[in-house]
Amino acid sequence: MTLAAEIEPGSSSDDPLHDRVQLALRGIRTDVPVRRGAGAGPSDDGHVVLGGANAALPHNPDSPYVVRDGKVYEERGGTVRALGLSLTPVRRPRFYDLTTADGIPYHQIALLHGKDVLATTVVQTCIRYAEDQRCRFCTIEESLRAGSTVAAKTPAQLAEVAEAAVRLDGVTQMTMTTGTTTGPDRGARNLVRCVRAVLEKVPGLPIQVQIEPPGDLSVIDDLHAGGATAIGIHVESLDEDARRRWMPGKGSVPMPEYEAAWDRAVAVFGRNRVSTYLLIGLGEDPDELVAGAARLIEKGVYPFVVPFRPLPGSLAKRDGATAPSPELVHHVTAEVARLLRAAGMTGADQEAGCAACGACSALSATGAA
Ligand code: SF4
Repeated sequence: MTLAAEIEPGSSSDDPLHDRVQLALRGIRTDVPVRRGAGAGPSDDGHVVLGGANAALPHNPDSPYVVRDGKVYEERGGTVRALGLSLTPVRRPRFYDLTTADGIPYHQIALLHGKDVLATTVVQTCIRYAEDQRCRFCTIEESLRAGSTVAAKTPAQLAEVAEAAVRLDGVTQMTMTTGTTTGPDRGARNLVRCVRAVLEKVPGLPIQVQIEPPGDLSVIDDLHAGGATAIGIHVESLDEDARRRWMPGKGSVPMPEYEAAWDRAVAVFGRNRVSTYLLIGLGEDPDELVAGAARLIEKGVYPFVVPFRPLPGSLAKRDGATAPSPELVHHVTAEVARLLRAAGMTGADQEAGCAACGACSALSATGAA
């Protein structure tokens, strides 16, 4: 039977969020050239442009979703449904083939996320990586162990790679995160130097910095003065039980520290230039998660809701944790999107960072990205 004969005409879903959520959780069978392997935080996927938007989708040989001629189809039990979505794999960027003067491949310093985001983990180690302290979804030091990155990137290296990525591959924004360091600033002050160095080489490049609440809030002012456009202060969950269970180290940072850091960041960077990751599927009551997102939106903080998925190499994966149900992800994402729309907040307005990229969330299918 030919593919054309198998396709049910006019069978695309009327709910773009439904398909986006299914794709985020079940992935696609087609492998893609640009992937984000193990690393900081909770995402690990292949990068594609889905219906015109950045999307990070797992490669899953058992997924019912396939890509043919640049379009996504769902194959189940002999029937094929066209989703009505275009999908273009992000091509391997040219800057990946370059090497610094001291012999480090550029892709060990920063990676392409989506089609146009340069992402780096400036310090690839974390003081919280002991097994009883680390975030159970995180694999920050696994990529280091695998030799796919270097432990610390210098400001000069970041500037060199950013310049090439903008010139050769049309990168339009950069995001810088860091493993938590021992100083009271938890790694934030090093990012000031990195932002300054990149902007000296690439003036005007929108950069998002991602930090833990720093002991001294004035470093948030310094990040802004250094030229950062947006800031992510990622709590991952607002639920104390979930924080203790999933993030024994990071979850010990009291919530008032997060509140103070978000407030200072909004005062300095402005409304909707501040964001936080909220993971869907850590066992939190969904309505409380949505209510917490509403409080963040009221403050001017964009809640970037992302489905939890257990990454290879993470403690979550080792312990058999599973991704949340599509129904849960759909419910939370739709509700948070409704709140964001009502507040007039879009991820694109952040100009840089995860909310502006949108690849790791299904919010992009709702118009709130
Ligand atoms: S949303 Fe953030 S982590 Fe995900 S691909 Fe985009 S920049 Fe990378």
